[in-house]
Amino acid sequence: MNQIGIIGLAVMGRSLALNMADHGYKVAGYNRSYEVTKQMVEKNPHENFIPYETLEEFVKSLEKPRKVMLMVKAGKAVDAVIEQLLPLLENGDIIMDGGNSFFEDTIRREAYVKRQGLHYFGIGISGGEEGARKGPSIMPGGDCEAYEEIRSILENIAAKSEDGTPCCTYIGENGAGHYVKMVHNGIEYADMQLIAEAYLVLKHIGKFNNQEIGKIFEEYQKGELSSFLIRITSEIFQEMDDMSTQSLVDMIKDSAQQKGTGRWTNMEALKQGIDVSMIAAAGNARLMSNKETRKTAEEHYPRIKIAKIPNHETLIEDVRKSLYAAKIIAYAQGFDLLKQASTAYDWNLPLGKIASIFRAGCIIQAKFLNDITRAYEHEKNLSHLLLDEVFEKRVISYENALRQIAAQAMLSGIPVPAMANAISYLDLFTKNHVGANLIQAQRDYFGAHTFERIDKDGSFHHEWGK
Ligand code: NDP
Repeated sequence: MNQIGIIGLAVMGRSLALNMADHGYKVAGYNRSYEVTKQMVEKNPHENFIPYETLEEFVKSLEKPRKVMLMVKAGKAVDAVIEQLLPLLENGDIIMDGGNSFFEDTIRREAYVKRQGLHYFGIGISGGEEGARKGPSIMPGGDCEAYEEIRSILENIAAKSEDGTPCCTYIGENGAGHYVKMVHNGIEYADMQLIAEAYLVLKHIGKFNNQEIGKIFEEYQKGELSSFLIRITSEIFQEMDDMSTQSLVDMIKDSAQQKGTGRWTNMEALKQGIDVSMIAAAGNARLMSNKETRKTAEEHYPRIKIAKIPNHETLIEDVRKSLYAAKIIAYAQGFDLLKQASTAYDWNLPLGKIASIFRAGCIIQAKFLNDITRAYEHEKNLSHLLLDEVFEKRVISYENALRQIAAQAMLSGIPVPAMANAISYLDLFTKNHVGANLIQAQRDYFGAHTFERIDKDGSFHHEWGK
């Protein structure tokens, strides 16, 4: 009998199935179009992977309680496959959705499947094709009691951090796993945008060429910024185009695409009343990069002189410090949203553990995540990452560099929305006076919305201008 079944054998399902097979699990595979299954088996035959042409044969081949993982396109396909599966499964069987489903869909599906006597897990999986094949970061959410049935498979196929711990931990009930994956992707947007801004500063202010920028990122990779994204960035700048004599990065159209998760993070942050301005800035930067009017507008608006930078070494070091300080603020925003969601959805999210499972296998894997885990281990009820004393010290010591770099970029007409929002967020977060007294006065003036006073309890209204 097969120990687990995977439905959906496109890039992610195929890679995950082979990862499981490598770990000695007998894996059944099914794909709606059998042609895809056949191609997979031809290209990647594996003694532990058994393909099936029909869903009935596939389900029959599984040992009980059956464990079925869906790796199909997020959205309607997941509902369609659940409907096809339910008549074939029995009480106690487990359906897992490893795709990028919207967490509210997962909450709905979990309740629905539970009513049929089965278990349902929404599992966030990060790391793209390579992660799925060699070990991704895994964020399972669902019925806590049934988790024991799937824990060992998930932990065995997950990436392992440097100390050997699997990058997989139970996240919480129903949609918690997909929620954390969503916010992980939001953080990823901000992280990528910050790196793109650092690139623009190095290119236009530092006048470095691509090879030099690649080397600068290579140096960054040796220190506290060490991460998957910095590593691939250094490699990207070294890559030549095989269709021209240019660097490949210069031949790529300057307009970025996105799928749903970054936008969902922003919508959810608005709903929860949490400021994730850097994630919003990163999403907006991608949107703006698709504005077809950009080229024409550049011709219409006068060219702004690029600011002078004292010397290259200072610039390189200040960009490094800016990246690091802004990265701390981006993660602090993302984790603030997770903290709020933990209460709002009653999930009791293990924030420190969540940071620790991002340490390997996923796109935002970085040395720095150890510090987030440490911060939450040090103080379980930490209200905000920027109030952790280690992060506080680092932000304070790098803050000036961030302000210098963002200011130079703005004076030079270089778009740095994520860095700019990092600074605004820090200023809103750390200043006792943010101008809201005037806003309340205006609201009371035009709409009698009342205001609170600093010297007396209660709400007050004033007859302004009379
Ligand atoms: P896709 O998202 O491109 O989905 C293709 C798969 O879905 C195929 O197996 C396809 O079957 C199946 N499918 C589509 N519609 C239906 C349907 N109505 N009924 C049954 N099967 C259907 O595949 P990926 O491998 O890229 O991703 C799988 C999931 O993992 C997605 O949710 C994705 O968002 C998520 N994910 C992807 C990552 C990546 O890097 N690609 C990273 C992390 C998560 P058929 O061949 O018959 O069309």
